[in-house]
Amino acid sequence: MEEVFETVSVMRPCYNALQRTDLCNNICRFSNSFNNCWMNATLQAALHLNVVRNTLTHQRPESLILLSSTPTFAGLFLEALRNPGRSFSPTELYGALTELSEKVPSLCLLQRNDPLKLLKHLWVWLNRCGIKTLTEVQGRGWCDNCGTSWGTSSNIYFLPLPRRGNSFSLFQQAVKQNTGPCETCGDIVQKQKVWNDPDIVTLFLSQGARTGSVLGKSVTPLQVIEFPVGENQTQLYSLSSVICHSGNEPPTGHIWSYLCSDFITIKACDSRISVASEYMRDDIYRHGIIFLYEKVHESSRHHW
Ligand SMILES: [Zn+2]
Repeated sequence: MEEVFETVSVMRPCYNALQRTDLCNNICRFSNSFNNCWMNATLQAALHLNVVRNTLTHQRPESLILLSSTPTFAGLFLEALRNPGRSFSPTELYGALTELSEKVPSLCLLQRNDPLKLLKHLWVWLNRCGIKTLTEVQGRGWCDNCGTSWGTSSNIYFLPLPRRGNSFSLFQQAVKQNTGPCETCGDIVQKQKVWNDPDIVTLFLSQGARTGSVLGKSVTPLQVIEFPVGENQTQLYSLSSVICHSGNEPPTGHIWSYLCSDFITIKACDSRISVASEYMRDDIYRHGIIFLYEKVHESSRHHW
């Protein structure tokens, strides 16, 4: 497998001030009056996915809302999707926040919630809308010593624990084979990972891994990852957005997101939208907790 070590692209000088303002004007702004930065960052990250825009904008909103267990939140999502750059007032957000706290047991009103919990809820709905959001990884192996073969399957969100001094290994280990003992004879064998072919891959880095003694440093996400999806088959995924968190574990601290495209990265922090400058790359490396990748179709690269 070819390894790609590109880092997140940030501002290029070819964009003039007017063009940068144009790009920022296409991102929806959400007020933060109820400790709802976690919802805002999740919305801005999910709305930035090409597959979401391409799939949902051609369907009737009423039919899509029917597929959600939180229709007010779904309505808010679709309203934002259809109106790039729209600003949402506290009043408009409060209904969705109340509904989420009532219908999703892990989310609380007026608290800083974990964006991963909202993402999981959102992904279930988008999956019903025809977007493959659920990641499944099959582990396969064969032992040369005793001849045992095995296969396991699981939904995966979590990046493996980082190895000291090597932040790249997080993303490599997530997709590649790893070594482990044979279940029958204990010989050390290679276990192959085969991913299903989802439209969106969500990689989550636990705060414990980041703040603990294991890593304690920055994590550099890969711009493009080649996932093994079958016998000698791979699929490219590109980084669409990074949800960042500062402070202690959610529900405390602040949450915001970075939206990536080929040539520019935009920082979305509630109602404040700005083009990412060079120093913000370190911000991503130090605070990124959720990395959204989407399948690369040659015709749908994000050019703006
Ligand atoms: Zn064996």
